Amino acid sequence: MKIVRTRTQKDDITYGAVEAEGIRLYRGTPFVAWEPTEVVVPFDDTSLLSPSIPTKVVAIGRNYGSHAAERQVEVPDEPLIFIKPSTSVIGHAAGVRIPPHSEQVEHEAELAVVIGKVTRNVAVEDAAQHILGYTIGQDITARDLQRRDGQWARAKGFDTFCPLGPAIETEFDPLEGQGLYCRVNGELRQEGLLSEMVFGPGELVAYISGVMTLLPGDVILTGTPDGVGPLAEGDLLETEIDGLGILRNPIVGP
Ligand code: MG
Repeated sequence: MKIVRTRTQKDDITYGAVEAEGIRLYRGTPFVAWEPTEVVVPFDDTSLLSPSIPTKVVAIGRNYGSHAAERQVEVPDEPLIFIKPSTSVIGHAAGVRIPPHSEQVEHEAELAVVIGKVTRNVAVEDAAQHILGYTIGQDITARDLQRRDGQWARAKGFDTFCPLGPAIETEFDPLEGQGLYCRVNGELRQEGLLSEMVFGPGELVAYISGVMTLLPGDVILTGTPDGVGPLAEGDLLETEIDGLGILRNPIVGP
């Protein structure tokens, strides 16, 4: 099932599921209780919003050996976690804004895990029951500020720095090692396999849930392979994962 959150032409914001003819609207949310309505809206009559509204986005640094190597840092012995604020989240087709504070804003294509229920101190083998599904994410980073500040809250926390979407796929198994791609203006910048992740989604859910409670809708960004590079106003950023589709975001001014 492909779960989306949409705004209809009547300005109703609702969850839905992708069907052949359009998006079937649902009552409620996939995190508590929901049921299908009779309404199927044609794709052109809705705009997609971020498929989840997380209370927090927990992101993982250096979870692909290739990216750690290009940044000349070691892969850590245990997951290196940081937080992106909920206000950094945007959806498919929304613009990433280049803040005036930075001269070096970069893309980081990542698999995003969407948590389905309250998750605290779960074991790796139970983690899958706490995952609603997977979507595509970007961990947009002001690289110059990341180096200058020494900690990453500002560099990774600007509004619009966490595109998510277009949909949450509930039937996705990242252990199949699907391809992950990032293109800027059609040029391939990043290419990796989900099987190259140092810590897989189950390990990450277990590890993070031992530190902080994950709430329904929270998102884990699982790290990026090598090839991170600059973004400029006017660029079109495309992030693709086999089986999850393509997340497109234009890069806009401040
Ligand atoms: Mg990242």
